[in-house]
This record gives sequence, structure tokens and C-alpha cells, in this order.
Amino acid sequence: MVSVTSHDTPLNEKLLGNGRGLQAGIGLMALMLIILIVFTTHSRIAADRIEALDISVAASSNVASIVAANLGEVLGRTAIYARLSTTFLEQAHDAQAIGNPLAIGDAAFLRMAIFDAEGKLAHSSSRRQVEPDLQLFARTVLFSETSPALVIGGIDTGINTHDPQTGWRIPVAVPLISGQRRIGAFAGYIDLGYLLALYKEASLGTRSRIEIIDSRGHQLAEMVDGTMSAGRDLERTGYASFTGGTQLSGTIDARRPGDSGASIGVYRRLDHFPLLVTVTRSRAAVLDELAPRDVKYLIRATLISLLILLASAGLIVLAQRQRRLYAGLTDSEARNLALINQLETEKVRAYQLASLDFLTDIPNRMKFYELAAIELSRARRSRRLTAVFFLDLDKFKVINDTYGHGVGDLLLQQVASRLRLSLRGHDLAARLGGDEFAVLVSDLDSDEAVAIVARKLVASLSEPYPDLDGHDLDITPSIGVALYPGDGEEIDTLLSRADRAMYLAKQGGRGCFRFYEASLNTTSARSAELVSRFARAIRDGEFCLHYQQRVSCTDFRPVGLEALVRWQHPEHGMIFPGEFITLAEEHDCIVALGNHVIDMACAQVANWQVLGLTVLPVAINISARQLRDETLPDIMTACLKKYAIPASLIEIEVTESCFIEQPELAEKVLRALDELGMRISLDDYGTGFSGLSHLKRLPISTVKIDRSFIRDIRNDNSDAVIVSSTISLSHNLGLKVVAEGVETRDQVVHLKTAGCDELQGYYFHRPAAAADITALLRHPSAYAA
Ligand code: C2E
Ligand code: CA
Ligand code: CA
Repeated sequence: MVSVTSHDTPLNEKLLGNGRGLQAGIGLMALMLIILIVFTTHSRIAADRIEALDISVAASSNVASIVAANLGEVLGRTAIYARLSTTFLEQAHDAQAIGNPLAIGDAAFLRMAIFDAEGKLAHSSSRRQVEPDLQLFARTVLFSETSPALVIGGIDTGINTHDPQTGWRIPVAVPLISGQRRIGAFAGYIDLGYLLALYKEASLGTRSRIEIIDSRGHQLAEMVDGTMSAGRDLERTGYASFTGGTQLSGTIDARRPGDSGASIGVYRRLDHFPLLVTVTRSRAAVLDELAPRDVKYLIRATLISLLILLASAGLIVLAQRQRRLYAGLTDSEARNLALINQLETEKVRAYQLASLDFLTDIPNRMKFYELAAIELSRARRSRRLTAVFFLDLDKFKVINDTYGHGVGDLLLQQVASRLRLSLRGHDLAARLGGDEFAVLVSDLDSDEAVAIVARKLVASLSEPYPDLDGHDLDITPSIGVALYPGDGEEIDTLLSRADRAMYLAKQGGRGCFRFYEASLNTTSARSAELVSRFARAIRDGEFCLHYQQRVSCTDFRPVGLEALVRWQHPEHGMIFPGEFITLAEEHDCIVALGNHVIDMACAQVANWQVLGLTVLPVAINISARQLRDETLPDIMTACLKKYAIPASLIEIEVTESCFIEQPELAEKVLRALDELGMRISLDDYGTGFSGLSHLKRLPISTVKIDRSFIRDIRNDNSDAVIVSSTISLSHNLGLKVVAEGVETRDQVVHLKTAGCDELQGYYFHRPAAAADITALLRHPSAYAA
């Protein structure tokens, strides 16, 4: 049988859970990658910016050095002009000695003038008569004791400082010394614009600025992107920090008023002059140059991030689809399994319905055959015994007739459950139908072990059955046993032989078991000895008959006799038929014994006739085997003839078991006996297989209720009911009823009340020897009860 494995669902959930985890993992990884990309892009941009600024500062530094050197050299040239001017003054104003600075190709100096010791113009390079602003400037160096060296003009000197066109033309003046005396002054304009214009082309990039600043922080000239200007006041800017200092050079990173952002660059102080050169560039301009590259970086990072996002989204979607697909798969698998299970359960149920007995819930005949066949094939490989038991309930039909089928069903259910309780788990019990059950027990090691099981079954099923729908019932089983492999190898054979053995058990007195193999029943040495002695015992006349009277229920007068055989054994003394009848049946001696009994009975009747006594009819017990003997009517006829007695004086007692094997033959023989004019009784009624109604067709005139019913008639309610219903049923069918085994007065009263016709039992007469009966027949009144 297929079954859904219970751990499937959690496994699926786990897998589905894992799928969810995978998706989260992919998402997390994508996020981390993107963060990494953003981080590296940003740090790259930042590094590029630092590098660009560094490069810009380095370039500024180069330019600053060159400009400073150049400016220093231009300023240095005033010393040459001062010497020339001294010569001019000393050599009586020889104009040839000085010349025109422009003429000598010095484009840095715009104009020059020489003043004498009184400060009067001695020479002007532009041939002017007066040089008022230069004169003013010259006088400051001529008459000031403090600055004997070069004085450089500034925005507060008042010279040309406010002219936007010429603001970068800076006046310089130097005293002319001869010996210890100031003999005059040299003054001129230096064109810083010209100087700076030389660096117009210096590749500093846009928004770059070159400035020349004096030590007081006055801007002397400025060139921004090639455009010249001057005069900006830088005192309140970040420049103040270095213009006043002594540091030769340094970096600038400051913002000037009017600028939109900070500038970076360097300043450089001139070696011999109180001037600074700054070269700076707008920080924004430097960075702006990087913008396209930054944009490229950002686009690339964005594209890669998008790609990662797309890829991971794709992966997630894929994983999700897989997960859904898997979930769908497991779902449909689970549904399929459930369906299979349902089908399987239904199949099992259908099979159980078909293979279990509907009433008792134990296997039915079909199932028994199937399981037993399997068990036998297993037994083939084992050296141990397997036993098949065929069980039949002794009084079942009567119980059914009396209490109805409901009670009968309850009884069968009880029997089934007792069978199950008496057996081991792997033993097999089944109901074959009606009140027939079969049991198969394997792995037994001896005949005795089989007998123990059989005894146990008999004992268990013979226990009282209390309260079956209000009735307390007593019943016994008859069990036949066939052994594998001795009695047969196929279950069919074994079952039919066990069945046969069961009939022997019935004949043997019921509530007992019989082996099919006769030798197993002959358990004692005495039985074996009896069997071996039969023929001789008949020949030697060791058998005799005792007679038991039957009395009328109305006046208790004797109305008949029953011949009961006895074995007068020379060694064992008198042996009763309970011990040897079954043996005789099993060993094929019963017909001989039966014929011998017929002969003895007829002889006795003749004997009584000869004595002139009123002879009572004598009933002879006929066994099943005899009834299948077609010569029986002839034997009987011959015997009647031989002893010259009428058939009416001989009665026949048969049991139901006589009609089991070859029932047609038995019926035929019985009819022949009936036609001879003999009365026929059905003996041991209630212990057999069929109810009364089934026996209607047989030529029976009397029913003898088995003594097991009479025994407890006062105590056992169920037996009382059975007896009274049997009596009324029999009367309805026109049958006379005889009660057997009447032992007490109570039983007599009960039977009389119930309407019984005749009684037989120790209460009236015990079976007695012929001589005693002779005496009784002589004086019937003496024996009246
Ligand atoms: P059965 O035909 O039922 O015979 C009646 C038996 O009940 C006899 O036992 C008799 O002694 C016994 N009996 C009578 N009244 C009472 C009573 O009040 N209480 C008790 N407990 N028992 C009572 P018996 O003589 O031992 O015979 C046993 C059985 O042997 C007979 O049962 C009968 O089936 C069989 N049998 C006897 N003689 C013959 C015979 O000649 N041929 C055959 N085939 N069977 C015989
Ligand atoms: Ca009898
Ligand atoms: Ca009887």
C-alpha cells in the first residue's frame, strides 16, 4: 500500500523557505555590489579632484617661480639704470650716457627720469620738460633718510593708481649715491602688465590669475585669463595672512571678495624686493574640468548598477518562478499522493468487504483459502506441523430455530471473537459459512501440540455465552483436525478431511475433537487393543445388549425399550459404547457390530415372545455407516424372518449425521426400513446441523431431544426454551417427542408441562440386562414410577 510520507510537507516548506532565502541573498548581494560601486566611484572622483588640484597647484608654483624670477630680474635692472644715471649726473648731463631705455630694447620700463640733488628733472626719457609724478616719487627717495634702496610704488603712492588702463604701471625710484652723498635720484615706470602679458599663454587653464602684490598687501597687477587689472585691496582677505609674513612661498586656498568660490594656488616672495607673486586658479574651474570625466564615471557606475539590478531582478524572478513551479509541483504531487492513498484505502476497504465475513469481521471462506494457501507454501519450507481445524457448533440450528437469527448472529460473533482470543496473532481463523469455522495453526511441533490447541478451542467455545439479547446460551463445538502434510498438501483436501473428522467428533459425542488420521485418535494402548480385538469379540459373543425403558409422560408406563450395546471384555470387564463405537466406526467394524446388535435385539424380542410376555418395541441405534449399507433392509428383513417377529416391534434410531455423507443413499435405506414398517426416531436432536424443518422430508415419526438439553432444563433458561419450542414445533410437524436423560423429578414436571410425549432416563430406569427386563415385563406394575 502506498502512503503519503508525512515528512514531505515540512521538506517542501523548507525548500520553499530556502527559495525565499535565495531571493533575499541575491537582493542583498546586488545591494552590496551597488554600494561598492557607488563608494569606489565617489572615492575615485575624490582622488581625481585631489590630484587635479595638486597638479594645478604644481603648475601654479612653476609659473609663480618664473614670474618671480622675471620680475626680480626686471627690478634688478634699476641698479644698472641707477649707475648709468650717476654717470649722467657726474659727467655733466651727457645724454648719450643714458639713452632711452626703450631704445635699448627694455620694454619693461616705460619711462625713466633722472633728478639732481635738488630734485629738479635732469633727464626725461620721453624728452619732457617736467615729470611731475615721477619727480614726486623721486623726492621721496632723495630726501628720505630711511630708504636708500629701491623704492617701488604702490596704490597708495598716488601715482596712476586709479587708472584702469595703466594701473599696473608701477613707479620705482632709487637714490643716486656718489661717495657718501646723494647726488640725485632715478625714477621710472615699470610696466607689470607687459611682464604679465608674457604669461598670457602659460597653460594654466581658465579662471587662472597671476597677481603681483606689495608687502603691504596692495595689489599692483593682476591678470585674469589674459585680462589685466590692478588696485584691488586684498587686506581683508585670506591673503593678509601671507602678505605680511616672511615665508618665501606657500600655498593659497582662499576666497577673495567678489569671487564666487575659493581659489587655489601658490604665492612666492621675491628674493630682494618686497613683492609677492601669486598664481592661483579658481578651484571650481579646476574641478569643472573634471566634470565630464566625473559624469562619465557616474554614468558608468549607474549603468553597472542598473545592470546588476537588472541581473539580480532577473535572478530573483527566475528563483521565484522556480519556487512557484516547485511549489506547484509538490502541491500536485501531494494531491496525487492523497488521491492514490484514497484509492488505495478504497481498494483495501473493498477488498476487506469482499474478504471479511460481514457478520464476524474475521476472514471469510475466500480469504481463508487465500491466506491458508500462503501459509501452506511457507510451511513447505518448515519441518513443523500445520493443522487445519474444522469447527461446527453442536446445537446451533436449534438455537437459530428457537431464538431467531438475531441471537444466532450474536452467538456467531461471540464464537468468532473467542476464536481470535484463543489463537496466537498469526494463526488464522475464518468463518466458512453458517456455523462452520476454520482455523489454521502453523509451527506446531507434535500431534500432542495440535491436540492441546484443539482442546483449548473446545474449552473456550464451550464456556457459557451470557446475555445474548437477554438469553444465556450453552453450546459446544465439534472439531475435526487435518494435518499438513500428512493428511493432504492442498488446503482443499485438508479442509474436506478436517470436515470429515468433525463428523466423527459429532458422532463421538460432540463437544470434542477428532483427528482425520484415525491412528491419532487411538491415543491409548487400550483403544488400539480394542480395535484389534473387534472381530474376535463379535465372534466370541463378548458383546451384549442392555435395555433402557421409555415411559409415557402421562402415566409413566413403559412404552418402549432402547437396546444399548455393552462389551463384556474378558480383561477390562464391561465397556460402554462411548469408548468403542467411534473406534468401531473409524476402523470399519461398525457395520459388523451393528448387524450383530440387530441380530441380538431380534433374538431377544423373539425370546420374550416365546416367554409369552407383552413385548415392548425395541429401538436399535443405527450408525451412519450402516445407513449407507444398501443391504441393511435385507439384513433386517432376514432377521425379522429368522426370529419371526413383526417389524412393528423393532424401532430404528438415527442421528442427523447419518445424512451428511451420501444423503440420498442414507435416505433410500431409511425409506426401505420405514417401508418394512419400522418406526424411526431422530436421536440426539439439537446437537446436529439442521433444524427440524429440514428433516420434514425424512420418514421420521419421533424426535429424541438430546440429554444435554434436558440436563440443565431447570437452571438453564435457554435449554428450557429450546426444549419447549422443539416440543411444539415437533407437534406441529406431527412428530412424537421423547426426552432423553431425564434424571430428576423437576425435569419430569417441566417436560410434562411442556407437553413432552415420552421420557427416558435414570429417573425411571437405568439400562438393564435382558434378564432384568424380562422380570419387568412379567410384572410391569412393580416398576411403575
Ligand atoms: P444414545 O443412543 O443417546 O443412548 C442413550 C445413552 O444415554 C445411553 O448410554 C444411556 O445409558 C444413557 N442414559 C440414559 N438415561 C440417562 C440418564 O438419565 N442420564 C445419563 N447421564 N445418561 C443416560 P450408553 O449406553 O453409554 O450409550 C451411549 C451411546 O452409544 C448411545 O447414545 C448411542 O449413541 C451409542 N450406542 C449404544 N448402543 C449402540 C449400538 O448398538 N449401536 C450403535 N450404533 N450405537 C450405540
Ligand atoms: Ca439412541
Ligand atoms: Ca440419544
